[in-house]
Amino acid sequence: MGDVFQAPAQPRIPVRSATDEQLFFPVRRVYCVGRNFAEHAREMGAAVPTSAADRGRPVFFLKPADALVLDGVVPYPRGTRELHHEVELVVALGKDAPPGVLDPKVAMPLVFGYGIGLDLTRRDLQAAAKAKGLPWDTGKAFDHCAPVSALVPAAEVGDLAARSLSLQVNGETRQHGAFADLVWDVPEILHELSRLYALRAGDLVFMGTPAGVGPMQPGDRFLARLDNVIELQGEIIQDAHSG
Ligand code: MN
Repeated sequence: MGDVFQAPAQPRIPVRSATDEQLFFPVRRVYCVGRNFAEHAREMGAAVPTSAADRGRPVFFLKPADALVLDGVVPYPRGTRELHHEVELVVALGKDAPPGVLDPKVAMPLVFGYGIGLDLTRRDLQAAAKAKGLPWDTGKAFDHCAPVSALVPAAEVGDLAARSLSLQVNGETRQHGAFADLVWDVPEILHELSRLYALRAGDLVFMGTPAGVGPMQPGDRFLARLDNVIELQGEIIQDAHSG
């Protein structure tokens, strides 16, 4: 009775906390939201909702959990000439959702904490797929496509609506967005996800990016911030096997 090979280790994200004990967050799934800031939807050429009633439904996709990057070092991916950054809030669920569709009013107690991450995108592959009406998977879900910071317990972040996120590349600010401008906030996104999936402890949700997405090259250094609460630093390195 045994496995035919050694199972890969489950990704475990360090938790930043005031206590001495180092805790980790074991990851189950990585959900992502598309077009959750109106200005980004506009820059991607998508329809921009003009009111809450006009929002339709959020766009969801997934990344493989083993694509998370915990040390900030991202090899430039193979198969693309257009690697784009998308800085995003990452919501980490510490509890299973109750059975059925989740009421937004009881969604927040499921949230363990927050991080900040990059939804790295092979934009050329995504654009080609979109143009043909094909799935985006190769543009969004690939090795090393999800660098993420340590997680901070929700109580230390406080009211998200008062906070903002930003991204610098090589010291230049590329993206900035206020969470008050999210098309769907965290409880609404958890509600919408629960209409499609059973949410569990260990699930992450990348909440969508503000305007200003753009390319990165090998040698570029990135610094993402959620105000002065959470920081993610890293770099794109040349992958000897890409091309
Ligand atoms: Mn995104």
